[in-house]
Amino acid sequence: MKSYRKELWVNTNKRREYINITPDVNKCLVESGIKEGFVLVNAMHITASVFINDDEPGLHHDFEIWLEKLAPEKPHNQYKHNGYEDNGDAHLKRQVMGREVLVAITDGKLDFGTWEQIFYGEYDGMRKKRVLVKIIGE
Ligand code: ZN
Repeated sequence: MKSYRKELWVNTNKRREYINITPDVNKCLVESGIKEGFVLVNAMHITASVFINDDEPGLHHDFEIWLEKLAPEKPHNQYKHNGYEDNGDAHLKRQVMGREVLVAITDGKLDFGTWEQIFYGEYDGMRKKRVLVKIIGE
């Protein structure tokens, strides 16, 4: 069995942003040389997500509106977590959108459904953060 590990770095311009990281994960898969197995992709931070959905800007706008209804960023003092920090909302948004995805690898490719793409979801950005890519198989 082969094993591959890589950290991807992300630095968003905005506090909240969605980035399609599928091309980066594909690069990792090619580098790994693994043809059959699984790839795990997870955010290494507790105010960011990795999830699978459609690469459609309208949907990403809808995520923003929906998440702001569930856990509005402001006022900052509505969250007990916010004392020295202002990211209480970001922790809650990450919890809803998830930490990681697991994708099957078949014939050297990500075995996706038609519209599936892997996204990094940032909820407290404008600083360097990491995503872990771990691939196992043969
Ligand atoms: Zn925090």
